Amino acid sequence: MSVRTTCAYCGVGCGIVATLTGERSVEIAGDADHPANRGRLCSKGTHLGETVGLDGRLLHPMIGQRRAGWDKALDLVARRFRAAVAEHGPDSVAFYVSGQLLTEDYYVANKLMKGFIGSANIDTNSRLCMSSAVAGHLRAFGEDVVPASYDDVDGADLIVLVGSNTAWCHPVLYQRVRARCAAGARMVVIDPRRTETAEEADLHLRLRPGSDVALMNGLLAWCRDHDALDRDFLRDHVAVPDGFWQQLADGSDLWSVARACDLAPAELRRFYELFVATPRTVTLFSQGVNQSVTGTDQVNAILNVHLATGRIGKPGAQPFSVTGQPNAMGGREVGGLATTLAAHLDFSPPSRALVQRFWGSPTVAAKPGLKAVDLFRAVEEGRIKALWVMATNPAVSMPDAGRVRDALARCPFVVVSDVVEETDTVRLAHVRLPAAAWGEKDGTVTNSDRTVSRQRAIFPLPGEARPDWWIVAQVARRMGWRTPFAYDRPAEIWREHVRLSTYGNAGERLFSLAGHAAGGNAGYDALAPFRWGGTPFADGRFPTADGRARLVAVAQKPLAAPLRDWPLLLNTGRYRDQWHSMTRTGLAPRLARHREEPLVELHPDDAAAAGVADGGLARVTTPQGETLYRARVTDAQRRGELFVPIHWTAQIASGGRTGRLTRAQVDPFSGQPGFKSCPAAVDAV
Ligand code: SF4
Repeated sequence: MSVRTTCAYCGVGCGIVATLTGERSVEIAGDADHPANRGRLCSKGTHLGETVGLDGRLLHPMIGQRRAGWDKALDLVARRFRAAVAEHGPDSVAFYVSGQLLTEDYYVANKLMKGFIGSANIDTNSRLCMSSAVAGHLRAFGEDVVPASYDDVDGADLIVLVGSNTAWCHPVLYQRVRARCAAGARMVVIDPRRTETAEEADLHLRLRPGSDVALMNGLLAWCRDHDALDRDFLRDHVAVPDGFWQQLADGSDLWSVARACDLAPAELRRFYELFVATPRTVTLFSQGVNQSVTGTDQVNAILNVHLATGRIGKPGAQPFSVTGQPNAMGGREVGGLATTLAAHLDFSPPSRALVQRFWGSPTVAAKPGLKAVDLFRAVEEGRIKALWVMATNPAVSMPDAGRVRDALARCPFVVVSDVVEETDTVRLAHVRLPAAAWGEKDGTVTNSDRTVSRQRAIFPLPGEARPDWWIVAQVARRMGWRTPFAYDRPAEIWREHVRLSTYGNAGERLFSLAGHAAGGNAGYDALAPFRWGGTPFADGRFPTADGRARLVAVAQKPLAAPLRDWPLLLNTGRYRDQWHSMTRTGLAPRLARHREEPLVELHPDDAAAAGVADGGLARVTTPQGETLYRARVTDAQRRGELFVPIHWTAQIASGGRTGRLTRAQVDPFSGQPGFKSCPAAVDAV
């Protein structure tokens, strides 16, 4: 039996043909018909078959350390949430969910929290990944819409990769970038590190971390001064705030920008000239832009350049935010961020009335909820009385994770639904609920270019595991809302989600799944990949009140500075063959060969100053904590900067616990933490 499904890992969203070869074994091949990958897979996708065993799986509901039946566990969860709401109000409870959830799971969780409990305290680990892109899109376009598609990469003559080690983090998309470059396109990489991606670039700008706004404002000023603005597009389709161009004049000349970014003026000029000379430019950006305390401004600095030069809504000319997780986009679509209500709608009275009418709910959240960092602060301060964590491991992955771990330990009631029996977060749960894993569940995901694909079950549900949508709906029914959560199949949830996307004022939104309700269950089973929204902005119209996009005045803020006792800056990121906290990739031995242990990468001068030898053990310390790594001394790092991976946890090793080091400073607009430049020190062990 062969099943067409979608990869479990990153936002590229590759289609897979999975062929069952035994009770719990499967052969994996790329789906040649899927538009995201056309048959290609990277190492992680290729080895998915090694990760489907049942070792370490959570297979039964647990209350404390005792096995419990589903009824008992679900009754307890419903009772504790209901009691907290009754005694302390709706904002005393919270859900922390994940871009690993399928859209149908996300939809039901969002509906329960925002529509029936009446709080918007549902946030997602996607907050840590791309929420600055969301905030930037909203400011510039009026709606959170990624205008680009992978076809734009195929049609670009210049591909600018900003803050993205695409070769490692989005490998199949990178294969398209390389193929386009082999056909003559140029590649510019803007990244403080000399990554594998940067090594293949025509031009690598190793800018000072966090100086992206200066660099992009400089590019915009250069375009203006070299007659490269699209004045017709600006006049007809873009609102420019008063004083925008005067403000841009300050510090945006080539020499000032080069100084601010720590770049040679000649290399900066080369980039600017290349951009001006190449109308078909795609600027692809990722976590290096988003994971910053000025992430939203950095996003808008990129969008400003594309809007002002008319490089948007045209084949091969687009800004392109690339997401990390397989369904970060699906979560955005249902409203799984605390800052959105549902289906790209906000918390305005008309939107609330519309959603309340559609859901037939008693109340709808009146204001945005707590964003991830604030949510765990509220847990720490005792304001959250009941918390439900779904498919994620915040005790490892949140910034200043040790503090989050302590907060969870003090929370009166923690529920975790997960596929894994033992993680740093699961260990702190009062109730553990066994969720269905990839290969066992049915639903949809949306990838980085808005292609919606089906994930399909290959195996029967093991033990007592159940899909997340089922678990949430069962709790909702026990809380008293039987009819609104009377779902029997994910197809019913999908059709409701499609209807909400076209309900009421749908004409004012770009997000619409019209025409994709997919009929009955058979239609849903057969649902083929599709992109919603067509080619947004091709007609120059934007989903704002006046139909115009907005240039947003952004200025370079002071850069993160080392501290006296922490004279270096710590950057964090992914390895090519690992994923999140390794709960899945750690099961595939062949994936460990690429990087067997966590490394701290540092410049030879910093290593010499700290007495750290290449291959020796090194301790990295920040104001938040310390942990050990194997040292790699390399001039791929800039002087004064360290790089460490995010994947290792207490289950895997005593060292490499990066979450202990990062700090919980966030971007003021998006609430996204700045994971890329934390003051740090290193010494030899
Ligand atoms: Fe999976 Fe991403 Fe690799 Fe594609 S590029 S196979 S979606 S991990």
